[in-house]
Amino acid sequence: MRALLNLAAGTAARYLDELDNRGVAPSAEALAALSQFHEPLPEAPMEPERVLETLDRIGSPATTGMAGRRYFGFVIGGSLPAALAANWLAGAWDQCPGLYVASPVGTVLEEVSLDWLLEVLKLPAGAGGAFVTGATVANFTALAAARHRVLARAGWDVEADGLFGAPPITVAVSDEAHPSVFKALGLLGLGRSRVVRVPVDAQGRMIASKMPRLEGPAIVCLQVGNVNTGSFDPAAEICERAHAAGAWVHVDGAFGLWAAASPRYSHLVEGVAQADSWATDAHKWLNVPYDSGLAFVRDPEALRLAMALSAAYLPQGDHREPSQYTPELSRRARGVEIWAALKSLGRTGLADLIERNCRYARRFADALREGGCEILNDVVLNQVLVSFGDAARTTEVIGRVQRDGTCWCGPTEWQGHVAMRISVSSWATRDEDVERSIAAILRAANG
Ligand SMILES: *Cc1c(COP(=O)(O)O)cnc(C)c1O
Repeated sequence: MRALLNLAAGTAARYLDELDNRGVAPSAEALAALSQFHEPLPEAPMEPERVLETLDRIGSPATTGMAGRRYFGFVIGGSLPAALAANWLAGAWDQCPGLYVASPVGTVLEEVSLDWLLEVLKLPAGAGGAFVTGATVANFTALAAARHRVLARAGWDVEADGLFGAPPITVAVSDEAHPSVFKALGLLGLGRSRVVRVPVDAQGRMIASKMPRLEGPAIVCLQVGNVNTGSFDPAAEICERAHAAGAWVHVDGAFGLWAAASPRYSHLVEGVAQADSWATDAHKWLNVPYDSGLAFVRDPEALRLAMALSAAYLPQGDHREPSQYTPELSRRARGVEIWAALKSLGRTGLADLIERNCRYARRFADALREGGCEILNDVVLNQVLVSFGDAARTTEVIGRVQRDGTCWCGPTEWQGHVAMRISVSSWATRDEDVERSIAAILRAANG
């Protein structure tokens, strides 16, 4: 076992070293070689060393360089050294932290991380939390708590009796809400299409005065960190209006919520803590390995009543029983890496990570504008939308950027424009990476 794990560590370290000297996107040959994985189910066993060797030989070249320093696609963080190392150790532990008795350490590290997260994200102390796979499931989990509470207030037990015959729930959602919010609402029986879509302004922020009249059971979903522009919905105003009508306010803050961790950017989340529930990712801006998302609910009891297997199943002991707060019973111990990331960064390290990424986003915007490109959004956070002309030309330049391999940025469509989206989210990115990437993008734009 020791020799195998040393081999794995050496292989992984070599992979990360070499990442800097290859294209960020995998080569055509590497993608073609993936066909070698398509083989009949092996009849006989194979030694683990050879399994690892096969995985590295065929698999490593076909990765995208997401763990590297110049990946700016989607909103994808890298893995902090302490978080990656903790992930390996936790893999060796093989803990299932659904119950304290099953994994004391996994459970306690979730308790500690939850307190730290609420503090650093400036959310109410004592809120309930769920460690899940990502913001999609975090939205689902928090909205299940919302559904529970608004229907309970109307005298309806949705977990017991379902939605057939239940009082209708008004759901108001920003017109530019992330698709995962609509998916979560669909999974919850609230419908992807039966929601009221609230118009947005030129930066994609919900216009509070355009919210529908809220009466009876109601949920308002707002967004901090529009996936295209990085903009923030006016949370204070929306919370005030919604709460006056007795509605539940949910916040999708997959990456934007982390602005709270920086003294320079925390003004962006003003009013956000007044909401009732929040969803965010740890695998984006906290830079822990995939997968890791978080749901927080002001009233832990609403979360527990929506998620517990049953009120009678395995009663609560002295410790928080994580499975009472998550859709899953068995799952991996995600609190380990979150603890390691926060322990290694500290408050100042996390603020620095956020501020550095935002500074790089501004640098991209300034340099590309100077180079003749159009920047479509106000760069308030870590997201930059670049146009190189009409849709066809922008698409062509994005293709050239990706093929060049210095960095990787993806396409998006936003408010009628085709654009290239730059998302600076990795701890590993340095000044020279930004300058090299700017030069590569300008080469592609002018070529
Ligand atoms: C990425 C993102 C999501 C979905 O997160 P996953 O971790 O991919 O499930 C939801 N909302 C916003 C705003 C996002 O940026």
